[in-house]
Amino acid sequence: MKIAIIGAGATGLATAYYLSKKEHKVTIYESSNYIGGHASTFEINGTPIERAYHHWFRNDYEILQLCEEIGLSDQIGWHNSKVGTLFQGKIYNFNSPIDILKYTPLSIIDRFKLGLSTLKIQRIKSWKYVENVTAVEWLKKNAGVHAYKAFWEPMLRGKFGEEYYKEIGMSWVWGKIHTRLASRKGIMSKEKLGYPVGSFKFFFEKLYEKNIAQGVNVHLSTPITEIISQDNKVKGLRINKSSNLEKFDRIICTLPSDIFQKIAPGLNNTYISKLTSVDYMSAILAIIVTNQPISDKYWINIADREIPFLGVIEHTNLISSSNYSNKNITYLTNYTTKSDPLYKMSDQELLNEYIPHIKKINPNFNQSWIEEYHYHKIDNAQPVIRPNYSKIIPSYETSIENLYLANTTQIYPEDRGTNYSIRMAMDIAKIIEKSYNF
Ligand SMILES: Cc1cc2nc3c(=O)[nH]c(=O)nc-3n(C[C@H](O)[C@H](O)[C@H](O)COP(=O)(O)OP(=O)(O)OC[C@H]3O[C@@H](n4cnc5c(N)ncnc54)[C@H](O)[C@@H]3O)c2cc1C
Repeated sequence: MKIAIIGAGATGLATAYYLSKKEHKVTIYESSNYIGGHASTFEINGTPIERAYHHWFRNDYEILQLCEEIGLSDQIGWHNSKVGTLFQGKIYNFNSPIDILKYTPLSIIDRFKLGLSTLKIQRIKSWKYVENVTAVEWLKKNAGVHAYKAFWEPMLRGKFGEEYYKEIGMSWVWGKIHTRLASRKGIMSKEKLGYPVGSFKFFFEKLYEKNIAQGVNVHLSTPITEIISQDNKVKGLRINKSSNLEKFDRIICTLPSDIFQKIAPGLNNTYISKLTSVDYMSAILAIIVTNQPISDKYWINIADREIPFLGVIEHTNLISSSNYSNKNITYLTNYTTKSDPLYKMSDQELLNEYIPHIKKINPNFNQSWIEEYHYHKIDNAQPVIRPNYSKIIPSYETSIENLYLANTTQIYPEDRGTNYSIRMAMDIAKIIEKSYNF
């Protein structure tokens, strides 16, 4: 079969890999001049690093299996991750259940309630039992208001920003806790996070090379403007309005739902209503390269509402700074809507807004520590997972025959991540293979 894949991120490249393995004739179209999409890299002093912080968990089985297949499994480093929460001017460790008991901003009773709420989530066998309730409702009820405010709320705000955190479904928290705990060897063991030697760029390049070896055509800098269908059946696509129709038997689109809707004019209203019922957050990332570490943590959740960023992710506390000419690299992160004033700021305005608050992480911090600054804005970075989300997920098969959608809105109840992009790619490849043999 002649198959087109739109997008060369994790989903597009992996789908191409599985389908070309079955000897289908696959062509990928990618609008950027690089591969990797949301997990792509840029360079700091000649060394590649992700535009947005990225790591893998031990239970990211599908991507680890793919790494093995493409000869990468001995090229993944596993590193201890140190996690903390900044609350009322102090950074508290959150690496193991014992740390919950040491979380002194909460009374001893509230600490127990916090621990019990985590245990309770663990014991709930399926996300379906908590699907119809918001995380705020469930957590306040089960952990108490104090523990909610001091622990759970910062976690929700850190991911969904001011605008949406109160609307998030409890099934999202269920998915997060279950996948995070399953990634540890035991409940008391330390969490290790995976990172490919040479960055995610190395992973994508290997996958790209395998695709080329399997006969896949990849067109970079080639945005697709229209998917053509006739009598509700896919015919092909156009690179621009005046270009010829490129005919395909199957098309898989891996773009965010809003872009997909624009380039696929033949979709019916029922399918469009599913696409439009999921909102996305954008991610804004201010990346500072400093001559001294900001903290000793890889990941700090910010529970202080006066600080304008929601997370501090110090990459060089996971991967040694010796890989980056002994410089320290820290992402100051936020998830926002497009109407948020922070989203609208220029890169320099954002840095100026953030700088006074870095001292709250490290009182010794001085602006002169910053040797370089990079800024990335990623739209459609995180779908907003509200209660009863399973009922609004768009299916892989669209309303147009032989046209498929595979994007992060379809990952559930796990939080979107490259592992689940690979799982989705496997599923789509199976569906297409079945439709071919039918
Ligand atoms: C801030 C942040 C942190 C993250 N952290 C992690 C992490 O630690 N671990 C992890 O595993 N995952 C993480 N993720 C999630 C992960 O990056 C995504 O789930 C994954 O990369 C999505 O891949 P995708 O191929 O589905 O989509 P995308 O990566 O968005 O790929 C879609 C591709 O389509 C291209 N495109 C767009 N329009 C067109 C067009 N008209 N024609 C052709 N091509 C087009 C885009 O350029 C892009 O390359 C993170 C994401 C963000 C935003």
